[in-house]
Amino acid sequence: MSQTINWYPGHMKKTKELIQSHLKLVDVVVELLDARIPESSRNPQIAELTKGKPRIVCMNKYDLADPKVTSLWKRHFEEEGASVELLDAVHGDGIDRLMRQIVDRMKEKRAKYLEKGRNPGPVRVMIVGIPNVGKSSLINKLVGKSATKTGNRPGVTRGKQWIRIRDDIELFDTPGILWPKIDSREVGLNLAMTGAIKDDILNIEDMAYELLRRMELHYAEALTARYGVEVDPTAPTIELMDAIALRRGCRRGGGEIDYDKVSRILLDEFRKGLIGRLSLEWPDDFIERRGAVDED
Ligand code: GDP
Repeated sequence: MSQTINWYPGHMKKTKELIQSHLKLVDVVVELLDARIPESSRNPQIAELTKGKPRIVCMNKYDLADPKVTSLWKRHFEEEGASVELLDAVHGDGIDRLMRQIVDRMKEKRAKYLEKGRNPGPVRVMIVGIPNVGKSSLINKLVGKSATKTGNRPGVTRGKQWIRIRDDIELFDTPGILWPKIDSREVGLNLAMTGAIKDDILNIEDMAYELLRRMELHYAEALTARYGVEVDPTAPTIELMDAIALRRGCRRGGGEIDYDKVSRILLDEFRKGLIGRLSLEWPDDFIERRGAVDED
């Protein structure tokens, strides 16, 4: 994968327009990242797209990511000036903290309105992120049972709705879909391994091999605990894959190893968090990528 893969080019343009047209009505942007791959799951044009609107970076799927590595990322983004929240959108962990941050970001502005005797109205929020990062899950959790739809507003496409999720917060019910910038094999693999892009884009055995290579370096104990194999990071990775295949009965009729089967097991169990809470990216790995702007 030597060149940038263009993702749904038509769709990309449409969502860019959608985000930009709705931003006028938005007070705070919630940017969702995958906590296991914060840099690969980020659209580098986000700052430009959201044009200086207050933005909260949410590292979602925190329940699947390595807590130590996630703390490093949190500090890294905070050093860049971002507000950061850790989230598990499926179980709802971090949702209350996120809502507090949303209101906090608008506190001063709201106070100024109130000083002038004006009603600031609810804070309006839009969620943005690449496919599969958890936008719908977060919207579902935020909306819950208590929310009420507040109807169409001028300037909002018919059918799109603001949903009142608290007295002081309204959420745009349609998330902004961003596209990842797949400018290296590494980023493509990260997105594929976490399931953000379809398995048929990359070879499944290559993906599983790469996953195992990373895990043997950083998460040897977790591999031993899950698969009952000895991990020697200095030995060829394929030997580890073979050992796992044998433990899991991945053989073909003739006795040879069924790499397709063991690859699917590894990827599936990684994605479900069964091997442990694992991260695939560290802040230090991506220094030269930072600041890159997608020309699109
Ligand atoms: P969207 O495409 O951004 O709207 O993503 P979805 O909300 O459809 O989520 C994609 C997949 O990730 C679904 O299978 C979700 O159940 C799962 N998911 C989303 N958020 C989390 C999370 O915080 N933790 C875990 N474990 N899974 C999540």
